[in-house]
Amino acid sequence: MLRSKLLRELYQQHTLSRADLTRLTGASSASVTQIIRELLDEGVVQEQGSQQEGLGRPRVMLCIQQDFRCVVGIRMVSQEIHASLMNLRGHSLCQLTHHLTSFEPHQVTAELAEVVHKLILQGGISKDKLLGVGLALSGIVDARQNLCVYSFLLGWKHVPIGEMLEKRLSVPVRVDNDVNSITIAQKLFSEMRLERYFTVLYIGEGIGAGFYHDDELLTGRNNAAGEIGHFTVVRNGRLCICGKRGCLQAYASTDSLLHQAREQGLDIETLEDLHHAALQGDPEVLRLLNFAGQLVGLALSYVIDTLDIQKVIVYAPTCNTERTFQNALLEAVHHHSLPLVDSPKTILFKPGEPELWLAGAGGIAINAFLNDQLKLPLTASVHER
Ligand SMILES: [Zn+2]
Repeated sequence: MLRSKLLRELYQQHTLSRADLTRLTGASSASVTQIIRELLDEGVVQEQGSQQEGLGRPRVMLCIQQDFRCVVGIRMVSQEIHASLMNLRGHSLCQLTHHLTSFEPHQVTAELAEVVHKLILQGGISKDKLLGVGLALSGIVDARQNLCVYSFLLGWKHVPIGEMLEKRLSVPVRVDNDVNSITIAQKLFSEMRLERYFTVLYIGEGIGAGFYHDDELLTGRNNAAGEIGHFTVVRNGRLCICGKRGCLQAYASTDSLLHQAREQGLDIETLEDLHHAALQGDPEVLRLLNFAGQLVGLALSYVIDTLDIQKVIVYAPTCNTERTFQNALLEAVHHHSLPLVDSPKTILFKPGEPELWLAGAGGIAINAFLNDQLKLPLTASVHER
């Protein structure tokens, strides 16, 4: 417990002294000193110069040794998967893209193992340098049990993919949902690292949200927290892929926007077509984007008020240059969220950060390591198949 607290503080703050760590964790200085000694012996932490404060002895500063081990991050949100070998700060050493031949779980396991082997070779590291593998996939994932509960894309139900890959590789593997991995990426590698409360809203073919609440990733009992795409936002509205009517996803996902545009008789095939039509001021496209923005803002206002969140990052390819979608969303959040809580709400729109998201897949493993949930690999057997 204390080990994890120390690791997380050092990771977030970059450099701290033993006295800082004692103050921040509330632990006794003897316990902090003992665990830091273990972490120094293991090579996880290193000393980095000293700082003079007042007239006392200079304080030795400590930091995480970012090249202590590597992780592999794999993002599997379509048949084309992206993988990266990275250090503990998410800096990529090498990357590759692989086209899965099928979604059959044993075949996927074999191909993912092959991808990991290739990255290790390409990165020129030995297997005992590999701390773990993080796998981000679309769908509902039970991160505690390391299994995919349900994935529409992969056609999977209760597939223990984490365990299967771990057995194949003899390296710890952690699996999580893709939106959670994007949220973890923000916490570990972006300017949000010191924020204790924030939300990431992802809008693509599906819509999902990830949350940090009091510095912890909020996952829910079944690890299904954040499925806001299926909030009912229009009573008896459009049919959704989940079987319900009026879900947010049926109006605001990229697929449903394209579908709605075509229903109106517009010649629109791709998101680029949609953006182009919006730039040309097509009234029907602007109406669709405006309505989607309003509904997302409505759903987001429930989340903001439920969790008392001030910062939201919105990843949406529907963000358009003339800001129809963004303005409608902001207006709806302002209109629907509780005005009594005196806190400015910051909503940042980002079109996409694929590099950061890939780092987030590795971040699943790094996060588990910081939470002291990864066992260090003991043997080097990378070529085991
Ligand atoms: Zn639905």
